[in-house]
Amino acid sequence: MAINVTPIPGLDPGINDIRHRTAEFINAEILPNEEILWRSQQVAGLSEDDRETGRMRSIETREKIKAKVNEAGLWAPHLPKEYGGMGLDFLELAYMYEILAYAVGAATLFGIAAPNSGNASVLVKYGTEEQKRKWLLPLIDGTMESGFSMTEPDHAGSDPRSIATEAVRDGDHWVINGHKWFTSNGIDANFFIVMCRANDPTGELGAPGRMTQIIVPTDTKGVNIVRGIGIFGHSTSDHCEIKYEDVRVPVENTLGQVGEGHQAAQDRLGAGRVYHCMNSVGQMWRAFDLMVERALSREVHGGLLKDKQFIQGFIAESYMDVQSARLMTINAAEKVANGDPDVRTAISAIKVFVPAAYHRVVDRAIQVWGGAGVSNDLPLSQMYLTARVLRLADGPDEVHKILMAKNILHRYESGDSWNFGN
Ligand SMILES: Cc1cc2nc3c(=O)[nH]c(=O)nc-3n(C[C@H](O)[C@H](O)[C@H](O)COP(=O)(O)OP(=O)(O)OC[C@H]3O[C@@H](n4cnc5c(N)ncnc54)[C@H](O)[C@@H]3O)c2cc1C
Repeated sequence: MAINVTPIPGLDPGINDIRHRTAEFINAEILPNEEILWRSQQVAGLSEDDRETGRMRSIETREKIKAKVNEAGLWAPHLPKEYGGMGLDFLELAYMYEILAYAVGAATLFGIAAPNSGNASVLVKYGTEEQKRKWLLPLIDGTMESGFSMTEPDHAGSDPRSIATEAVRDGDHWVINGHKWFTSNGIDANFFIVMCRANDPTGELGAPGRMTQIIVPTDTKGVNIVRGIGIFGHSTSDHCEIKYEDVRVPVENTLGQVGEGHQAAQDRLGAGRVYHCMNSVGQMWRAFDLMVERALSREVHGGLLKDKQFIQGFIAESYMDVQSARLMTINAAEKVANGDPDVRTAISAIKVFVPAAYHRVVDRAIQVWGGAGVSNDLPLSQMYLTARVLRLADGPDEVHKILMAKNILHRYESGDSWNFGN
C-alpha cells in the first residue's frame, strides 16, 4: 500500500512540497522494490550462489535508487547545502522523516543512516576545516563509515557522568584507555567518535576529567573490537564491544574544545530524539496500514477480520496511538524550532510516549497478521524489535520521566502552574 500524503492545510508550502516529493519517491521507487532491496537474499532454502546473486542485486538496486534520490534533490536533507545536503531546517526535516520512515530502510537511501548522520551533524558543528576534509566529506559521499562510542559495560549509560574512558595527553597525542560497548556500525566503521574524560598534565587544555569527544580511526593500534554483540537471539550484530588499549591519536583529533563532549552529545541526542520519534510515527503509520489492509482481506471463522469487534478495537486503539504520538511529536518539534523554554519536558515526554505507542501499534498489527506477522516477509517483526530498543536507547524511559517530573514540580513549587495551552 502507498503512503497517503496530501498537503497539510496551514503548513508552510515548502514543507508540504518536501512531504509531497518524498512521498512520491517512496511510493514510486522504494515500496515496489522493498523485497529486492532488503530481503531477496534472506529467502530460506537458497543456494550460496543464489544468495550471492540476490545480494548483488540488492546492492545494485540501492545504488540506482541513491542516484535517483540525488537527481531528485532529496539527498542528505540534514546537512547544509555547502556539504551537498538539502539544508532543511528543523521542522522541514521532522516532517520529512515521518514520510521517509514509512518505507523500510529508506533513510539509508537518502544518505541519513545512523550513526553516520549524527556524526556528520556533529562534525559540521564542531569540526575544524581539516577534520571536515578528512572525516566529514568521505562520510557524506559514502566512502567512509563511522560509529559513536559512548556507552560502557561497567558504568551506567543512563548516567553519562559515570563514563570512565580516559584520554591522557602525552605531548602532541592523546593516549586513550577504556572499555565501550554497543558502538553501532562498529564492524564497518573507519572511525569512531569516542567519548572520553580528558586529562592534560600540563593544564594547557583545562582542568582534568572534562568530557571530550575524540576522533579515533579504527585502524589505530590498540582499537580492539572484542565482538559484535549478539542481540535478540542473533549470534552477532554490528553493535560492538571495543577495548581501547593505549590508543594514540593526535591532539588535533579533539572534536570541539576539551570539555565540550557532553554538550556535543546533548546536541546530537536532543534533536535526534524528535527525529527518532518522527521515524517511529512513520513506521507506526506503515504498521497501521498493514493491519487495516489485512483486516479487510483475511477471512476467519466465516467472516472477514474487519467485522470482528476485537479487531475493530485494535484499529481504534492504534488510530489513537498514532494520532497522539504524531501530534505530541509535532508539538515538541515546533517547540524546538521556536526555542520554547519548555522544550526539554516536551522532548522527554515524546521520548517515553512514542516508542511505547509504536510498540503497541506494531504488536497489534502482528497479532492481526498471525504467523505472517512475525515472519521476515513483513517489516513488522523488525519494527517490534526497534520499538523495544527505543525504550532504553537515548536515555531510558525512567530518566526522562524523572526529568519531566522535576521540571513540572519546579514550576509549581515556584508559585506558577503548567500551561497546557502552549
Ligand atoms: C541496539 C542498541 C544500539 C546502541 N547504540 C549505541 C551507540 O551507537 N553508541 C553508544 O554509545 N551507545 C549505544 N547504545 C547504548 C544505549 O545508549 C544504552 O544502552 C542506554 O543509554 C542505557 O544505558 P545502559 O545500557 O548502561 O543501562 P543502565 O544505565 O545500566 O540502565 C539500566 C536501566 O536502569 C533503569 N534506570 C536508569 N536510571 C534510573 C533511575 N534514575 N531511576 C530508575 N531507573 C533507572 C532504566 O530502566 C534503565 O533501562 C545502544 C544500545 C542498543 C540496545
